[in-house]
Amino acid sequence: MNVIYHFDICAFLVLVIILISLFMRKLTHGRINGTFVALICITILCTIFDMLSVAPLSMFGHVSVGVRIFASYAYFVVHASILPAYSIFIGMISGTWYMYLRGNTRNKIFFSAPYLVNLLFIIINPFTHWIIRFPKGHYERGEAIWVIYLIAAFYMAHTMVYLLKYKETIEKSKMFALASIYPIIIISAVVQFVLPSHLIEMFSITTSLLIIMIFVIKPEETIDTAVGAKTMTAFKNDTKRLYFDGNDGELILIKVKNDSSLVSLYGLNAHQTVVKKAVSRMDKVFSSVPKPGNYYNIYYLSYGLFAVEMKGDYNADEISDRIETELKKPIRTGEFVFNFECSLCLLDIPKDIPTHAELMAFVDTYDKSEIESGSIVYSKLGESDKIRFKFDIDKYIERGFAKNNFKVYYQPIYSIKEHKFISAEALLRLIDDEIGFISPALFIPAAEKSGAIYQIGDFVIDSVFRFIRDHDLSKMGLEYIEINISTMQCMKEDFVDNVKKKIREYGISNKSFNFEITETASDFLSDVLTKTVTKLHNAGIEFAIDDYGTGYSNLQRILQEPVKIIKLDKSLADDLGNNRTRAVLKSTMQMITEIGAESVIEGVETKETAEWFIEHSCDYIQGYYYARPMPENEFLEFVHKQNAAG
Ligand code: C2E
Ligand code: CA
Ligand code: CA
Repeated sequence: MNVIYHFDICAFLVLVIILISLFMRKLTHGRINGTFVALICITILCTIFDMLSVAPLSMFGHVSVGVRIFASYAYFVVHASILPAYSIFIGMISGTWYMYLRGNTRNKIFFSAPYLVNLLFIIINPFTHWIIRFPKGHYERGEAIWVIYLIAAFYMAHTMVYLLKYKETIEKSKMFALASIYPIIIISAVVQFVLPSHLIEMFSITTSLLIIMIFVIKPEETIDTAVGAKTMTAFKNDTKRLYFDGNDGELILIKVKNDSSLVSLYGLNAHQTVVKKAVSRMDKVFSSVPKPGNYYNIYYLSYGLFAVEMKGDYNADEISDRIETELKKPIRTGEFVFNFECSLCLLDIPKDIPTHAELMAFVDTYDKSEIESGSIVYSKLGESDKIRFKFDIDKYIERGFAKNNFKVYYQPIYSIKEHKFISAEALLRLIDDEIGFISPALFIPAAEKSGAIYQIGDFVIDSVFRFIRDHDLSKMGLEYIEINISTMQCMKEDFVDNVKKKIREYGISNKSFNFEITETASDFLSDVLTKTVTKLHNAGIEFAIDDYGTGYSNLQRILQEPVKIIKLDKSLADDLGNNRTRAVLKSTMQMITEIGAESVIEGVETKETAEWFIEHSCDYIQGYYYARPMPENEFLEFVHKQNAAG
């Protein structure tokens, strides 16, 4: 028989190229890459034995009959492993392999028995010649060769069922590549069966493996090599799987609250180094509690937001405590020392958040929310609805309006120059009948999404204007009230007219209040926003920039806008221990003064912090150290007493 073996030569060359490229791209570590490399190696061996066993003598010089027979056996042994290895590879891709086999003896037997039967048939072949025989020293199929095909079919079916079962968790392009192996192998098996002299099987497998390498082995999608953690894309896919399994998993979300001030103080480069160190500290926590058979993943989702996924029997509370401790230790890079200010949230999946879509929404809300720094929000403690109410927040907002549960509180602001309270910030409160206090940091972002922010905004302006109308502020020593407005509100077409109309309606002075917009809003000061700010400014209404130091904006640019007050974010006050922060604060406050604006430091909680700002000529202080936000009456009483005494 004249054997066409050129396909094997091509297969061999392509496989070697794939293997070299995997090594050159450093894609050999990790479960998925490791399995793929093994798969390539097995296929290379198989191709070599295939050629040795059937190729004409001229090709390898003199190949003795003994070598051919050995190569034939070796071919069948190695060949038997290709499809099981492929099954394992797909299991790895879907991320569920470990769950499939872990502690499940039935699955283990079900999966490996056909493989063992295959090996057994080959071992007993010298006596039975069921699979192959060598009359006249040449390879010929035995009468039970179908057993090999049957077992191959079993593994293909097994893999196919697995793929179909997990199709939700695998992206489309990957799915296509992984499934392409079926038509290719089936066609080649048919061709090979009909034309046994054409050795195309190894070549067809190689083609499939090449397709997989191109479409599936894409580490850049899932791993952020700069910081050594998995990416948001990986997080989405992995958590999808977590839900899909129906088994329990734990998730820790970690929010670094002062992340952006770290960037603005130290630059992106140093920031990256710090993130990398933070990731390796988290890794260290896990390596100190080795749990064979369990797994964890660390993700860097976006600026200041990490996630950790755990599966198996880790003690999640202990791990999150230890991660928090590790992260809060100062991180040194070169001459700088960073102090992460972070909050953690521990979620039991799927108990705490029942669906993947809700989880993604929660991650979003959590990222934007102002959960008190240093606090760990254990959702589990909240057998109450700590996590749930974040989703039903729209419902609570609606109910807040229906039941009149929104209240405006006032937090006094202390003037350093005048030694008294000269203004206050209006802060909205939602006190729900059932669940109690709901932080504006939670309901404001939700309201911005749902559009309820307009109604909320009107409510706050009305309440404050009514308050100003009904009380003689100047008699108490108060000059103005600060009102927070959301960018969305500000960008609404009729906002300016609406405000002017209300001023007339209530008959109050346009100097008795001003508006706060956040620094992040000014980042993308769009034309509309600038126009609004300018129009209101021309109508005599002043603006303050809120949360300065949390975004990435440039003070000089901000100061080109007609703003009167810059409110320095609490994170800066908290970071006073840091030389650089102090230096930045000093120059920032100086610049603000030079330009004729005024500075307010927010979130001052201690005497030392207050004293530092007094000493360094800040204009105003706001914070728990002087006063908390309070309801109208309490506020009036407080200011009356304090300003009279002072
Ligand atoms: P903000 O405008 O930065 O308000 C200051 C926040 O810091 C308030 O939180 C205040 O209670 C808190 N705070 C003041 N002093 C201290 C302190 O010494 N220590 C600590 N830990 N916190 C202090 P609050 O009231 O929870 O409001 C959170 C955010 O919700 C506000 O941040 C603001 O962005 C938004 N918000 C509140 N009321 C309104 C509103 O009427 N309209 C809009 N659009 N947003 C609002
Ligand atoms: Ca504010
Ligand atoms: Ca603020």
